Amino acid sequence: MSNRKYNFCPGPCTLPVEVLEETQSELVDYHGSGMSLIETSHRSDAFADVHNEAVSLARELISIPDDFAVCFVQGGATLQFAMTAMNLLNSSNKGGYINSGHWAKLAINDASVYGEVYKAWDGEAANYTKLPGNGDIEIQSGTRYLHITTNETIGGVQFPEFPNVDVPLIADMSSDYFSRMVPWDRVDIVYGGVQKNLGPSGMAMVIIRKSIADEISKKLPTYLDYRVHISGNSLYNTPPVFSIYVTGKVLKWLKANGGVKKMAEIATEKSQVLYRALDNSDGFYSSPVDVSHRSKMNVVFLLPNQELESKFLAEAQQEGLENLAGHRSVGGIRASIYNAMPFEGVETLVSFMDEFRAANT
Ligand code: PMP
Repeated sequence: MSNRKYNFCPGPCTLPVEVLEETQSELVDYHGSGMSLIETSHRSDAFADVHNEAVSLARELISIPDDFAVCFVQGGATLQFAMTAMNLLNSSNKGGYINSGHWAKLAINDASVYGEVYKAWDGEAANYTKLPGNGDIEIQSGTRYLHITTNETIGGVQFPEFPNVDVPLIADMSSDYFSRMVPWDRVDIVYGGVQKNLGPSGMAMVIIRKSIADEISKKLPTYLDYRVHISGNSLYNTPPVFSIYVTGKVLKWLKANGGVKKMAEIATEKSQVLYRALDNSDGFYSSPVDVSHRSKMNVVFLLPNQELESKFLAEAQQEGLENLAGHRSVGGIRASIYNAMPFEGVETLVSFMDEFRAANT
């Protein structure tokens, strides 16, 4: 498709064009049924097949063990900030949090409504430009879980490895979901809004250790109770049909394109091309992030001044390079290079960056 732009939006973000085209071709008349899937009952065989295939592809792609349930829950990753705490915290335990930046702060804030929480490590003093090593994390006694944000989408910091601590992890993987494997023996819950690496917005994929159901004893509003989602196969109420449908297609695309280990390799290569361009720019472009915690998904950088940043964004747009502005809270530039961003998109951006630097120094 010749008029497609390179879209570096952090989310919703670029999706594989093959997935968009296949969805379009099926939308009006799904597999000869005379109606679209989004006009069909969520309890129909047609939707059950789509739903079950999405779950089994997710299981296969990141090797989810049988003792975890794969649930599709509305409310995005944001609702999981509260739900995790609501389900797991009680009067005799507490939740530890890695305060890694914008999204971690929101998670801490919502969890604190439901139980005792504390910062097991705090990145504030370093302006959220780095993450802790295992030895830097302070777990207090009585801790039920350590919550981490594997990739801070705004700050551009990413855990190269999941922390290894004495309590189970809860991981917000919204912005690096299915771009890396998960150490299942260390986690109890993994969640992420799907609108980055997986599909259209409207839900979170929440992967929950099933034994958690036995530990919840309090009464919770039905939809907010993990037991309901684990036992009900995400069908307690009408699920986000369109989001599940397209996420299934993206998962199929991921499998056809080499799977998640391959995506992890490509993410390393794509991000290295960009970081090399920053590092070889004689300081014209600078990364605020500690080298060992640089994100492979959201490459954040600065120019010498804001005037040049505005010019950069305007000229990039003219070249078909869209949505490169940093988050409104921090400014600067951010290139989000999720799985569906082709290598050529990153190469085109780097060529533009080199030309822009040459013309403005
Ligand atoms: N966590 C992270 C790391 C995110 O990047 C985002 C969204 N950008 C969220 C949570 C919130 O996700 P949602 O919009 O799906 O609620």
